[in-house]
Amino acid sequence: MERIIYLDNAASTAVDKEVLATMLPFFTEQYANPMTSGHSSLGDVAYEALEKARSQVAALLHAQPEQIIFTAGGTESDNTVLKGVLEYAAIHRFNGKAHLVTTRFEHHAILHSAAALERWGYEVTYVGVDSKGFVDPDDIRRALRPDTALVSVMHANNEIGTIEPIAEIAAIAHAGGALMHTDAVQSVAHIATDVDKLGVDFLSLSAHKFNGPKGVGVLYARNRETFLPFIDGGGQEWGMRGSTHNMPGIVGLGKAAELGLQRLPSEERRLAELRDHLFHALQERIPGVTLNGDVQKRVPQNLNIQIEGIDNEALLVALNEEGIIAAGGSACTAQETVPSHVLTAIGCSTKEAKASIRLSLGYMTTGEDIDRACAAIPRVVAKLRSLA
Ligand code: PLP
Repeated sequence: MERIIYLDNAASTAVDKEVLATMLPFFTEQYANPMTSGHSSLGDVAYEALEKARSQVAALLHAQPEQIIFTAGGTESDNTVLKGVLEYAAIHRFNGKAHLVTTRFEHHAILHSAAALERWGYEVTYVGVDSKGFVDPDDIRRALRPDTALVSVMHANNEIGTIEPIAEIAAIAHAGGALMHTDAVQSVAHIATDVDKLGVDFLSLSAHKFNGPKGVGVLYARNRETFLPFIDGGGQEWGMRGSTHNMPGIVGLGKAAELGLQRLPSEERRLAELRDHLFHALQERIPGVTLNGDVQKRVPQNLNIQIEGIDNEALLVALNEEGIIAAGGSACTAQETVPSHVLTAIGCSTKEAKASIRLSLGYMTTGEDIDRACAAIPRVVAKLRSLA
């Protein structure tokens, strides 16, 4: 069978072989609970591995190890920071209430957490984006209120890859007395992500977006005194996230972070070149191809295009038959037939959104994969158009 051309790395990536090798002993020989360290030789080994992984992730973010809180993924990190900061602020700062500012084109891990906060009586302001997907920092300034506890704006969008002006927004949030969070699930290990340069108080990341395992992530918290836990339980993670540590996942995340940091400069260049080559070839060979999002300020692994007159569902099925895996909306909404809320937020009509596909590259993507995609996609589009 010919190799599958996997262009859906924004949905998830393959676990790197080195990452898997790091994880395997923690399923079998090294099975102890790191919290038993001190009176168990096996617990000591687990504890050491836990702290090594914490340092590996901290290095990737230019953070301190004690600012790294392990979670079960990006969704949990996002839930924790939104719910935990608002609850803390309502109790300790604003006499029972608190306000959140976020944007209309966040991932559903943020949007649905914000909706839960609204059900619980908190207030949320949703800021729009322009036609390229950029948040205007002045809109954030205008949305701030005296009781705004948190501003949450994603670092890079999961559908169109746009990179947001986080440092500028963070300065505005801080000047208004609010804390700043960024969902960096799609940017970490793909572009340089330095929590000090970004000026953020909180950052979410997820291992499976950069060749680590699924079901493990991190909430970076500059100061653990500014929020309450979302998962209450044992004293793990300084009492900020209960539950026995997912040791195979955590050591895998640590290794993926280490490799991601090493590979970042060369991968950032390589993927941007492959992505640009793919875009130009598709534009040249298929009439009516336009880019969703910005040409410059986008993560290197992301391409999102509209193909005039094409139904993306039919195209994805036909591409799949050719051994090419791509995406329409984001993976988490793949079961829905509604147009993507991200594309709607940048002003696409329903027809334009449904004519759009996302092609996302990753560490495993080769030049040959891209050459095959450059040849196959125009052929499939021409066939669909001839049948219409
Ligand atoms: N935030 C963004 C921007 C994402 O792209 C995703 C996953 O697609 C998530 C959050 C959720 O991360 P996880 O799958 O680790 O829960």
